[in-house]
Amino acid sequence: MQNLVNFQNHLRRTCLFDIIVIVKTNMSVKIEKSKRKTISLQVLTIDAVLVKAPLKCGDKKIWEFVNSKKSWIAKQIESLKKKQDFAKRFDFENYTYLLGEIHEKQKLSYKQNANKILPKIAEDLASRLGYCFSKLSIKPSKRRWGSYSSKKELMLNIYCVILPLNLVEYVIIHELCHSKEMNHSPKFWKLVEKHLPNYKLRKKQLENYSFLLNLKLT
Ligand SMILES: [Zn+2]
Repeated sequence: MQNLVNFQNHLRRTCLFDIIVIVKTNMSVKIEKSKRKTISLQVLTIDAVLVKAPLKCGDKKIWEFVNSKKSWIAKQIESLKKKQDFAKRFDFENYTYLLGEIHEKQKLSYKQNANKILPKIAEDLASRLGYCFSKLSIKPSKRRWGSYSSKKELMLNIYCVILPLNLVEYVIIHELCHSKEMNHSPKFWKLVEKHLPNYKLRKKQLENYSFLLNLKLT
């Protein structure tokens, strides 16, 4: 994070004209100024952060803000790196991953496998735990593992088929619990906990697989 030290000088030279400044050190700091009231910080990649600042926010203030968040940035980068290492262990070229297990590349596509496997698990869990859904759709989504609508429609991300079974269960139970609580209130999490006492661990483990959401497998 020492490179952030260079950021101050660089910023002085370029920020007068630019709305977006990219500092070419090991750590890129991208700045977006807009009509907003507060400064925010986002770690984009392991070597780039984004600062969103009000139009009138001076260089010094931005620098101080980034500097005060140094340890937070370092933590975020650490966790990003861990996720990337985890993703590297998957060999999608040569293998198929089903329910967390590795298989020789199969003839069936992920879509076909998902349509074969996921409905069974969802129906089984729903009937065992006493929930229902009117319709099940299985499709790719870059944002979420599943959803449950007020029309009682359950959606599961096609890539759930790659997740280990215990995480597929977590996703489905989470969504089914939304049939009783359509929010993430403490009451909702109590309900999830009733079915999965270790849901917090599963929720955390699921984060490791977030890279799957950006895949384009067939
Ligand atoms: Zn939810």
